[in-house]
Amino acid sequence: MTREARSAEGVGMTSQRTRDRLVELLARQGIEEPRVLEAVRTVPRHLFVDEALESRAYDNTPLPIGHGQTISQPWVVARMTELLLEHGVPGRVLEVGTGSGYQAAILAQIVPEVYSVERVGALIPAVRQRFRDLGYRNVMIRHGDGYEGWPEYAPYEGIIVTAAPERVPEALLGQLAEGGRLVAPVGGPGGQDLRVVEHRDGAFHQSTISAVSFVPMLRGRA
Ligand code: SAH
Repeated sequence: MTREARSAEGVGMTSQRTRDRLVELLARQGIEEPRVLEAVRTVPRHLFVDEALESRAYDNTPLPIGHGQTISQPWVVARMTELLLEHGVPGRVLEVGTGSGYQAAILAQIVPEVYSVERVGALIPAVRQRFRDLGYRNVMIRHGDGYEGWPEYAPYEGIIVTAAPERVPEALLGQLAEGGRLVAPVGGPGGQDLRVVEHRDGAFHQSTISAVSFVPMLRGRA
């Protein structure tokens, strides 16, 4: 039986009921946007982690995905997606830090086009396979350095950064459409703030949301 077939059956700790409980928890913890809750209800997070960790896939915790990287905590994924959608659904979103592909899959449920850049090449084949298995056709993945964004498809109405830079990279601001929003954890290993940057009337307006903890955004490809 393939992993996908198991997910369709929905048994035990990976069942739809388990996923529904996670959605209820996120709603209790302040996630309000119905499209985000529906996306979490739909995306089988257990297929984005190692089979050995499947039974913990619907706990509200980050989990290791190999190569020293992690799949973010569901609440953080939900909150960042909600912040991105605050003034409407963007047509085209750039994600920096594909990782397991979970955040990209959540976005793909909601927005028409997702472009995701990952610096660790070894993570990418598994993500591509996952998207093929699950039938996502609106996600494009590139092996590249997110400090450069993805200029070919710019500008983006939404940009979501899932690794922490010390400050918001200039290239990303340059690829943010007028009226667009960027959501990113910003800061060093000592502590990061979740920031929202709005590109409005030719200027960038930043606001700080809350303290978060992400792996660092590193330079170059690996
Ligand atoms: N969004 C992911 C979680 C990402 S963990 C998910 O849903 O699973 C952060 C990811 O950012 C890691 O995979 C890391 O390799 C990647 N990363 C770090 N620096 C980067 C950079 N400069 N460009 C692109 N990806 C980067």
